[in-house]
Amino acid sequence: MENERFDLEDVLRRASDAPRALTPSEIEGLLAIEDEDGMGRLFAAAHSVKVRRCGMGVAARGLVEAGNMCAKDCLYCGIRKSNSAVRRYALSADEIVSAAEEAKSLDYASLVIQSGEIEGEAHTRFIEEVLRRIAPLGLGVTLSLGEQTEETYARWRAAGAERYLLRIETSSPALYARLHPADCSWERRVECLRALRRTGYQVGTGVMCALPGQTHADLAADILFYADLDVDMIGMGPYIPHPDTPLAVEAADWNAAAALALGLKMIAVTRLYLHDVNIAAATALQALAEDGRERGVMAGANVIMPNVTAVAHRRDYSLYANKPCCDETAALCRGCLDRRLAAVGEHLLYGKRGDSPHYHRRTRDD
Ligand code: SAM
Repeated sequence: MENERFDLEDVLRRASDAPRALTPSEIEGLLAIEDEDGMGRLFAAAHSVKVRRCGMGVAARGLVEAGNMCAKDCLYCGIRKSNSAVRRYALSADEIVSAAEEAKSLDYASLVIQSGEIEGEAHTRFIEEVLRRIAPLGLGVTLSLGEQTEETYARWRAAGAERYLLRIETSSPALYARLHPADCSWERRVECLRALRRTGYQVGTGVMCALPGQTHADLAADILFYADLDVDMIGMGPYIPHPDTPLAVEAADWNAAAALALGLKMIAVTRLYLHDVNIAAATALQALAEDGRERGVMAGANVIMPNVTAVAHRRDYSLYANKPCCDETAALCRGCLDRRLAAVGEHLLYGKRGDSPHYHRRTRDD
């Protein structure tokens, strides 16, 4: 990026006026902003695009962490299969249904079911059963259950799931290879995203930022990747080292304040580039600062995922160090979130499913 040619006011005005209006080097330039004034102007522009394209308010999804068994050995993840310090658990169908009922009683109209990665007929059937049992609650259901066959995605869609979140983690195959063992394939992940689109889901993806060895150019390419895949939802957040993982050793230069700032800038620039997608303020932001999620909303996010998993299991689903809200019940979390959002002039949208405006637009135009 040639700084002398970078006119922030002009870039923000063009990006606010229309989606996909920035060049790769302008995206990179926005991600490189470090001064408080520049970041403040970036976040304000992104928040106002969020309000214009998605409305005031923040959609809520109750998050169920359904289990931490995982067949994968991702080098950054606290629940990777080789981490023998983890106490493994898997919620029963009854426990997942109760968490969904809890979400419904708190007036969250949407639910996310996430877990470590398990493939196979027994698991596919288990999730189908869960989906059929929660269908009468009328919640908008997102699954985040990793890579599966297209047939499995289709069966879960038929059983009632409407949205699927599968992070690509990074759009750079070379960086992906440094973060994963050899049996993980970046290409398969992309193929899974395409299969999800073919199967009729609202499709979400995302990346981690502040990874060792990651550059602003990599992150700019990530935003262009979201646009190329024409995704409906983005769930991305800062990488946070977990002490029992191999990648933590390479993260000596990692810095919480810089990771938080980068996480917020990624939200803002993605909002300015894509305009009408759903963007979640990830829990990882809150692990870095108590007000991290509200700051995510003020930087352009329009979705928050309060945890509705039984408190007894929260600590066992630790993807990274310093996971927040491990001891608060779902009802306490709701009150806390209400106060926190009110303090920044925003609010949770109770009783609203909060589908992606982009999904509605693209399916209407198809
Ligand atoms: N197994 C599913 C999958 O692969 O999509 C979902 C569960 S996986 C644990 C959810 C997400 O956690 C991953 O996509 C990854 O981006 C994130 N994650 C894992 N370890 C992390 C870390 N140390 N810091 C931040 N995010 C992390």
